Amino acid sequence: MYINISLGKQYGLLLSGGLSSSLLLYLMMKDRPTARVQPFTISNASENSILYANPIIDYFNSKFGWTIPHTIKVGNDLLPEDQLYDSSLLFILKKHTDIVELFNGSNNSPDGPPPIPSRRKIKKPFLFFTKDKVLELIYNEGLDDIIDLTHSCTIQSVGRCGHCRNCTVRSWAFSTVGKFDTGTN
Ligand SMILES: [Zn+2]
Repeated sequence: MYINISLGKQYGLLLSGGLSSSLLLYLMMKDRPTARVQPFTISNASENSILYANPIIDYFNSKFGWTIPHTIKVGNDLLPEDQLYDSSLLFILKKHTDIVELFNGSNNSPDGPPPIPSRRKIKKPFLFFTKDKVLELIYNEGLDDIIDLTHSCTIQSVGRCGHCRNCTVRSWAFSTVGKFDTGTN
């Protein structure tokens, strides 16, 4: 899968520390080591995504010789979950005016409502994929290692609850592609 970005322009990426955004970061950088991509992590106290984002960046930088900067934590812990995302996006685009497009790896739910198309500066290249397709791409790109580095649960910051939306979809995706989830984060 090819992600269309231009060298010399500044891009942002929401890096949650999960499978989809990690794959998206890889696809943005692949074959374009000088691409300018600044990761941002919306992190709140319960999921604590910030713990997982930088180790993924470090992994890519060390494996491929890239120089992706460390993530910038965004989000106000006091806001309810449903306002956290929108307020974080506004904050990023207002403060980082050099960002021409902000990428988001979110994908379609296997059983949810149809996805909402992206707003102008927000790009969601996986919007019409379900998580099993994301996993297939991860295996096809030889990125099996990131499975152990990623964290998907939104209830626990370490380990997994096994029943939140993200845990359920992750486990569904692995069984759909017929693979064992070696991750424990
Ligand atoms: Zn969970």
